[in-house]
Amino acid sequence: MTLISTNDIDIEKAKTSKITAVDFNNLAFGRVFTDHMFVCDFKDGKWQKPQIMPYQSMTIEPSARVFHYGQAVFEGMKAYKDESGNVFLFRPDQNFERINKSSARMAIPEFPKDYFFNGLKTLLKLDSEWIKPGVGSSLYLRPFVIATEPAISASPANEYRFMIICSPAKAYYSEPVRVLFAEKFSRSADGGVGFAKAAGNYGAQFYPTSLAQKKGFQQIIWTDANTHEYLEEAGTMNIFFRIGDKLITAPNNDRILDGVTRKSVIQLAEDLGIDWEVRRVSVKEIKDAAKNGSLKEIFGAGTAAVISPVSAFEHADEVYEIAEVEDSYAMLFKSTLLNIQHNLSEDKHGWRYEVK
Ligand SMILES: *Cc1c(COP(=O)(O)O)cnc(C)c1O
Repeated sequence: MTLISTNDIDIEKAKTSKITAVDFNNLAFGRVFTDHMFVCDFKDGKWQKPQIMPYQSMTIEPSARVFHYGQAVFEGMKAYKDESGNVFLFRPDQNFERINKSSARMAIPEFPKDYFFNGLKTLLKLDSEWIKPGVGSSLYLRPFVIATEPAISASPANEYRFMIICSPAKAYYSEPVRVLFAEKFSRSADGGVGFAKAAGNYGAQFYPTSLAQKKGFQQIIWTDANTHEYLEEAGTMNIFFRIGDKLITAPNNDRILDGVTRKSVIQLAEDLGIDWEVRRVSVKEIKDAAKNGSLKEIFGAGTAAVISPVSAFEHADEVYEIAEVEDSYAMLFKSTLLNIQHNLSEDKHGWRYEVK
């Protein structure tokens, strides 16, 4: 694939900005979008010239395969601005590699790296005003690919659309969540698509999650589909346990999404001298640890909320409360990550990517 410069993107600028109508102090997640979007179509066997245009509705035929067979993948990443107005992404190479891994699993053609990075940079420059400085403020970026070919035979499409849309996100204090350990439903299985950010993985969780919510639990911690004995991850977050002072998380496999936040937390634990282990974690181990008082924390890790502490879990109709600890790992990892992301601390692993 040939290298393109940002000049090779067709740009149609918005005539007026919608930004003055947005209350940045009261943002519901993912409901407001910036002035522009990035669009690149795949047809005749190749990705066509990328475009940036005003954020708008689009027409797609009802027969587009995405509507029938769910050939769709996405990513979630954020842009941050420091007090001097410099804009950063966090480990965007990881998101780039992952969307192509997801695409490959869904028989979607991979997207070229230069298109991805030039598209992001050009889009972020145009919509830079939408990125507010300050820890916790960020611009959530949603790259995604859908099968647009109008043909309802059950086979991979010949036409796709790759897009990036952007939504401002406010620092939100994440309330601790109450979770249910899955006993019946499963999110993914061996040989399946759990490791991919494939759209259907999320839709499939809505029903079991709504049942959990009726019982007072906001989220489900998924267990292995074969035995429901081992804890794997939450719906959009990887999950960590602290037993005594040891940090534990499940190993990646084809049922678990390889999270950027997860791998960063493991590296930070190493840097901070926190004892950590990547290994299978059984429901029984966590229940025993909760009973004998050695379970100190459970928390989720993902781009949207960074770190989400868990305050209680339910399994086999028993509820286990997790008392808040002083000097929690959850808050330590959250502030350490936010400081790196917002250019407030040293970035010794080169995770920040400046958008210039
Ligand atoms: C996106 C996602 C995560 C978190 O990944 P990050 O790269 O840290 O944002 C974890 N689990 C699932 C199922 C996800 O979709």
